[in-house]
Amino acid sequence: MSKPSEKKISSLENEILSNETKLYTYDDEYQEKYLKLRPWEKDDMHFKKVFISTLAAMKIVDHAIRGEKFEICGYLMGFAREGVFYVLDAVEMPIIGTDSRVEIAGQMGDKANVYSMNYLDLMEKVGRGHKYIGWYHSHPGFGCWLSGIDCNTQKYMQTMNKTWFALVVDPYRTKSKKNIDFGCFRMYNNEKTNRVLQEFDSIPLNRSEEFGIHQNKYYRIPHFFFQSKYEANIVKLMYKNYWVDTLSSNALLVNEDFFKESVDDVRAKMNAYNIKKKANEVKNKAMNEIHQKKINDLATLSTQANANLQNELIKGIIFQKNN
Ligand SMILES: [Zn+2]
Repeated sequence: MSKPSEKKISSLENEILSNETKLYTYDDEYQEKYLKLRPWEKDDMHFKKVFISTLAAMKIVDHAIRGEKFEICGYLMGFAREGVFYVLDAVEMPIIGTDSRVEIAGQMGDKANVYSMNYLDLMEKVGRGHKYIGWYHSHPGFGCWLSGIDCNTQKYMQTMNKTWFALVVDPYRTKSKKNIDFGCFRMYNNEKTNRVLQEFDSIPLNRSEEFGIHQNKYYRIPHFFFQSKYEANIVKLMYKNYWVDTLSSNALLVNEDFFKESVDDVRAKMNAYNIKKKANEVKNKAMNEIHQKKINDLATLSTQANANLQNELIKGIIFQKNN
C-alpha cells in the first residue's frame, strides 16, 4: 500500500469524523483488505494518530479515578483505517491490579475474557459491529509509559491482533493538572537500539530504571479527542452528574498525597543529581539537561498547586457573595 500524503490523511480523517454513518458503521470489507495488505510490516510506525471520542475518554478517566491507587484496565472499541485508530467506546474489565501492575494476558480465558466476549456479542446484537482495537490501563501517579509487563502484554496482543494499541491513563496527574493525561503506544516490530528516544513526562525515580530498559521498544502515537453528535447528549448527562462533584471537591486536598509524593520524588532526584555531580560522573552538557528537567518538574508542580489554590479562592469569593 502506498503511503498516503499528510493532506490525504487529514481529508479522509475529516470525512470519517464528520460523517456519523461512516463513523458508526463497521466496514468489514475494508478491514479485511487492510489486514491482508499489512502496511505495518513495511513501516514500523505505520500508526500515526489516535482519535478518541469524548465519551470513551470520560469512561476511561472515570474508571481510573474510581480505581484510586489500584491499576484498572479495559478494552477499547472502534476501528483502524489508513494508519489511524478511531476509538468509539471503552469497556471496563472486571479486573483489579495491584498499585503497580496489571496483567491482561495472564488472565485471558478466565471471567474477564468471557465478560469481554459477551459484551462484543451484545454490541453486535444492537447493530454495533466494532471490534476491540486496544486496551487501556492506569498508572496512578507514575505517568504514561509502558513497563516491562506492559510491553510483553502489548507485544502478545499485537501478534494476535495486528491493529492493536495500548493506552495508559494517569488518574492522579489528570486530576491535578485538570487535563486528561493519556499516552498511546505501539511496540516496534524490530528492537533496534539506535532509535531517537521520544520525550516523556517526568518519570518517578523509583521507576526510571525500568522505564529506561524498555523505552526504545515502543513509540508514542499522538492522540486527539473528538465528539460526535450521537454522543453529545450522553456527555451532557455525564457532565450533569460530575459538575457538582467538581465544584464541591477541593483539588488541594484531593491531590494532597500526590503532590507530597511528587515533591519528594523531585527532592530524591536532586540528591541523586548532586551526588553524581560531585563524583563528576556525567559530562557537563548532560548534567545541565538533567538539571533543567528537574527545574521543569518543579515549575509544573508549583503551577498546578497555584492553579488549584486559585480555583479554591475563586469558589470562596463566588459562594460568599451569594450567601
Ligand atoms: Zn502499566
